[in-house]
Amino acid sequence: MKVAIFSTKPYDRRSFEETNKAFNHDLTFFEPRLNASTVALAEGFPAVCVFINDDLSATTLQNIASTGTKLIALRCAGFNNVDLEAASELGMTVVRVPAYSPYAVAEHAVGLILMLNRKLYRAYNRVRDDNFALNGLLGFDLHQKTVGIVGTGKIGQCFAQIMNGFGCKLLAYDVYQNPACLELGVRYVELPELLAQSDIISLHCPLLPATQYMINRDSLKDVKQGTMLINTSRGALVDTQAVIEALKSGQIGYFGTDVYEEEENLFFEDLSGTVIQDDTFQLLQSFPNVVITAHQAFFTYEALSNIAHTTLSNIGEVEAGRACKNEIVPH
Ligand code: NAD
Repeated sequence: MKVAIFSTKPYDRRSFEETNKAFNHDLTFFEPRLNASTVALAEGFPAVCVFINDDLSATTLQNIASTGTKLIALRCAGFNNVDLEAASELGMTVVRVPAYSPYAVAEHAVGLILMLNRKLYRAYNRVRDDNFALNGLLGFDLHQKTVGIVGTGKIGQCFAQIMNGFGCKLLAYDVYQNPACLELGVRYVELPELLAQSDIISLHCPLLPATQYMINRDSLKDVKQGTMLINTSRGALVDTQAVIEALKSGQIGYFGTDVYEEEENLFFEDLSGTVIQDDTFQLLQSFPNVVITAHQAFFTYEALSNIAHTTLSNIGEVEAGRACKNEIVPH
């Protein structure tokens, strides 16, 4: 099938070209994101392949549908950037990559925990500067600490398994209980109890109307003083202003995040020569107990290869008129 691949970076191109040897789709790579001002690029392509920050609002979908696009192939798991109702009304099929490497994201969450706890970012810079003092680098044992996992799907389960290996006590909150997590000894509790008891809280649920700002001024009142908050899921799960206030008061002792609510204006681009206009992001960056990575938790060789394989396979199934198990159907 003729596929227009948007938001292409060199690493996407490499993994898609390599994997496509087994699929033989007709791929065209575009660097810009798909949005209202780039819809013309999709003209004549029955399929577009998009990532998390492409804009699949009703307006974009109407535009690309009118020039022949019938298939939206997301090369990510989350689909909060797609207006599914509009796609369905336009007769478009939407497919995604529900899992590509839960290990990649779970391992990155653990990386943020170790980075913040043992202050590895400060230690690295100090030693390079021949400063071998330990003042200010004191951490804590993870062993026997209580870790609260919000969302125990594929990534939350991997994360639970890793933290179990550290000897942590595991609490979880989810609308469903995962048998593998129960077997591991995870105790399911309501969200307020999880927030109140956890030394480390890690978010692994999708961004939905029900989960937007689940970490807010009110819920933060339940959190233990000095708790570590980790978000590798979606930025809007947390109210960033409320987190900033909690960092200032010491309610949150550490904040590690791979995602940011307004990240589409920042992430995946080299903005090192420009003045960042987002004051909230700049303030967040300024805290010594905050580590931000730019949505890289998924970014491993294995994940990129699995993403390309599942995306091209999804496109092949739809092209052949077969039911695709990765199709997203609006409820
Ligand atoms: P998953 O669907 O396997 O698991 C999600 C879990 O969240 C499920 O167990 C579900 O029951 C639970 N959930 C749903 N609604 C909930 C609610 N209201 N409260 C609590 N739990 C709820 O998904 P996954 O593969 O584990 O991915 C989780 C999230 O991680 C994705 O939605 C995505 O936003 C994020 N993600 C981030 C990256 C990254 O690079 N940072 C990469 C992949 C995925």
